[in-house]
Amino acid sequence: MTDIEVVDPSTEEPFASVVDVEVAGASAAVDSAAAAFPEWSDTAPRVRSTVLRRAFELMVERSDELAETIVRENGKPIAEARGEVAYAAEFFRWFSEEAVRLHGSVVRAPGGGGHQVVMLQPVGVSYLITPWNFPAAMLTRKVGPALAAGCTVVAKPAAQTPLTAVALEAILHQALDEVGAPSGVVNLIPTVDARGVTAAVLGDPRVRKLSFTGSTEVGRVLLAQAAQRVVNCSMELGGNAPFLVFADADLDLAVEGAMVAKLRHNGETCTAANRFLVEAPVAGEFARRLAVAMGSLPVGPGLDPATRLGPLIDEAGRAKVERLVQAGVDGGARVLTGGGRPAHLRRGWYHEATVLSEVPADSPLLSEEVFGPVASISPFEPGEDVVARANGVEHGLIAYVFTGDLGRGMAVAEQLEAGMVGINKGVVSDPAAPFGGVKQSGLGREGGHEGLLAYTETKYVAVDWG
Ligand code: NAP
Repeated sequence: MTDIEVVDPSTEEPFASVVDVEVAGASAAVDSAAAAFPEWSDTAPRVRSTVLRRAFELMVERSDELAETIVRENGKPIAEARGEVAYAAEFFRWFSEEAVRLHGSVVRAPGGGGHQVVMLQPVGVSYLITPWNFPAAMLTRKVGPALAAGCTVVAKPAAQTPLTAVALEAILHQALDEVGAPSGVVNLIPTVDARGVTAAVLGDPRVRKLSFTGSTEVGRVLLAQAAQRVVNCSMELGGNAPFLVFADADLDLAVEGAMVAKLRHNGETCTAANRFLVEAPVAGEFARRLAVAMGSLPVGPGLDPATRLGPLIDEAGRAKVERLVQAGVDGGARVLTGGGRPAHLRRGWYHEATVLSEVPADSPLLSEEVFGPVASISPFEPGEDVVARANGVEHGLIAYVFTGDLGRGMAVAEQLEAGMVGINKGVVSDPAAPFGGVKQSGLGREGGHEGLLAYTETKYVAVDWG
């Protein structure tokens, strides 16, 4: 048995370890989830609700500790880690409320001759795979609805951030134990062998659901694997968000929105604004203001309360950002602020907050997900079909529109190929709202009532009771 070493991105040094679960351990986790399923799926919804409500309370009680764990293994600034814990806990609260609202329906058959009863049943043992960028929220967004619907789970956190998941597993086990739930409802399998373990879990006929959050590239691989057994899939994949600023927008509001849409968690979010498309008359002024705001952010270790921009997750993540910035500059983009590594930080995978203007349309900065603190600004002409430009990528997770004309904002939102649109808002995520993408950004939704339905099967019963 080996250990997974967890590295602090601000020091590049390992600081903790977690037991690595190999294929045999993953199969044992499926055994345990399958054994618990009959009892858990038959547990009263009100009791399932109580478990999630208790998990919410325990997260709130332990929020300082959880936030510190997130910073140590992931690098984001402490204020953001606290925000993530609060957001993550809200998924437990929201789904504790939804657990008692899983409605089917009964109608008389339109042609007569009986009734149609539609019931929603838990899909079964669910395999959950989460990324490193939101180690708490991506897990609670899946575990919350799965447990609410009556499913049992096997969860595989990212190998770079297993500690937050271990802490959340302890919270869930405590909440489950308090109501006398069967052991085996929640099974965590941190592993360095994502591929081998996943092949074993997805190959097991008792596993009925795969919910994955991560890159589009890995999502495609998993969809192909899941197809072998026609496993029910939810996919939350990569993004390449356009951020549209029309000339009538309130520029202060647009810059404020841009700061959060671009820089939340150092730019390492699927919802990060990746392409700033700004109407020509205000493009220069918007770029100047954004460069001032981004250029003045304190960069440093996430545990320093003054820090607003922490290190990236690893060397490979920073190398990708550096490659894309170089490609932009080589293509003729202008660097307004940043552009490299901060000189005062010798250790840690830092990259300066960077603003590039006049980014050419064919730059890889605009076609690839940057996943770092780099804002690429391109002007568009008044009257130009900017929506076609915004839609011209394979992703469709989210888009942002800044305009003083709400009617235009709504019309543009309708035409954008995106699962979510923020109008004059840089953050849209809310546990009560359906989160997800179109095109190659994913399948299905998490959060809202839709997030609960993702863990159910619909059964139709035809019956004639006279
Ligand atoms: P990733 O490389 O796709 O990894 C995500 C998860 O998949 C990790 O747990 C990883 O395990 C696992 N994994 C990787 N290869 C696998 C394989 N062959 N079989 C089974 N599991 C495998 O993504 P990431 O770099 O962690 O996260 C960043 C990506 O996630 C970005 O593209 C971002 O946009 C996307 N994301 C999307 C959303 C959304 O809601 N749409 C939210 C957050 C992030 P290891 O850690 O062991 O590699």
